[in-house]
Amino acid sequence: MAGYLRETDFVMVEEGFSTRDLLEELTLGASQATTEEVAAFFVADLGAVVRKHFCFLKCLPRVRSFYAVKCNSSPGVLKVLAELGLGFSCANKAEMELVQHIGVPASKIIYANPCKQIAHIKYAAKHGVRLLSFDNEMELAKVVKSHPSAKMVLCVATEDSHSLSRLSLKFGASLKSCRHLLENAKRDHVEVVGVSFHIGSGCPDPQAYAQSIADARVVFEMGAELGHRMHILDLGGGFPGVEDAKVRFEEIASVINSALDLYFPEGCGVDILAKLGRYYVTSAFTLAVSIIAKKEVLLDQPGREEETSSSPKSVVYHLGEGVYGVFNSVLFDSACPAPILQKKPSTEQPLYSSSLWGPVASGCDCVAEGLWLPQLHVGDWLVFENMGAYTVGVGSLLRGAQTCRITYAMSRVAWEALQGQLLPAEQDEDAEGMCKPLSCGWEITDTLCMGPVFTPASIM
Ligand code: PLP
Repeated sequence: MAGYLRETDFVMVEEGFSTRDLLEELTLGASQATTEEVAAFFVADLGAVVRKHFCFLKCLPRVRSFYAVKCNSSPGVLKVLAELGLGFSCANKAEMELVQHIGVPASKIIYANPCKQIAHIKYAAKHGVRLLSFDNEMELAKVVKSHPSAKMVLCVATEDSHSLSRLSLKFGASLKSCRHLLENAKRDHVEVVGVSFHIGSGCPDPQAYAQSIADARVVFEMGAELGHRMHILDLGGGFPGVEDAKVRFEEIASVINSALDLYFPEGCGVDILAKLGRYYVTSAFTLAVSIIAKKEVLLDQPGREEETSSSPKSVVYHLGEGVYGVFNSVLFDSACPAPILQKKPSTEQPLYSSSLWGPVASGCDCVAEGLWLPQLHVGDWLVFENMGAYTVGVGSLLRGAQTCRITYAMSRVAWEALQGQLLPAEQDEDAEGMCKPLSCGWEITDTLCMGPVFTPASIM
């Protein structure tokens, strides 16, 4: 163990105790708290992060994993990933400071933002972060001036038009402009050591990775012709974070492995790496949010003049968190959060058309509509799974402060596996089974049935 993560950083979950038990304890505690009113909190299963990494090592044995800090910069996540030996991909000075603060050496940090603030480039230079990315001439000029010993990775645009969230609209040089950029770098004595790309999030076609790897090969050849010694290929992120993603991680990995064998075969001297965000953290975080207010709205019925107690109504619930906070994925990722109730409703309980709203006085702060829920009450808790990606950190950026407390948990099995760094290859028999017991195990599946007007789309 390198000592980034300590036993005191998380709740050790013993056999027979699940994340659900922990969540119930915490919601009970929060409901009874007299001093501080808690409206929302996370439970983070660090064992799930460990399990993800073991699956990564098994499926992509040639790829070195870096973690995209912007995705979830909470200390428990950073420490467990540092303990697992990952490198870190940072988008700005604050992220570099954060990972250096927990003791990660500069050699394990990539400043992977093709468009950087000069002050942040200077910070990288001063603190020994040498690997930086770029996709345009202006950026090269900035680096020549502020960080002459930097080693640059050329970020290439991808064909990501089918991805849910596209990155190449903002970042990435076209293949056509790469030669010109490589020539300029050579002229300015800037070392270009590799190529990176990002296929965007929620890409429905794993072949997008294969195409980008093929494009990267072309750029490597251009670089070699111009005298650049390129030896890094960065596959970016975009890997799914949920188990039931349309395209499974294993399927993507298999496409990548075949493309690597073709374009960057073993022994070619190229170091392959990837910068994953949501893959590691999405499923590890569960959010509990309390209902802070409630309103019943009678539905208009043509031809009916009087309102009675049996008139159809819909229920508007106000929650302690909304789209300006941890539910920002509703705005940015077209997510449709589906709540889990703590108490399973009986079959006799009537269901009402319901909507969930955040605490901000804005008509846009709508978390979910068209849900069919039983009568819930102020003070009840709703639970949302798969809440680990772009919730912690992004929410705080939007609102200026992080409000949701995080309780980290890990099963003893996961902790021991982490201590022993039991790689799947070393204990192949357990590799498959390792996926389950490592996690604390969130066992309930009573996600509420949705009404006919609403079909929950997958986040990815
Ligand atoms: N690398 C870069 C350059 C990114 O911008 C991002 C996310 O935007 C990532 C990696 C992580 O992506 P994901 O969370 O889809 O894995």
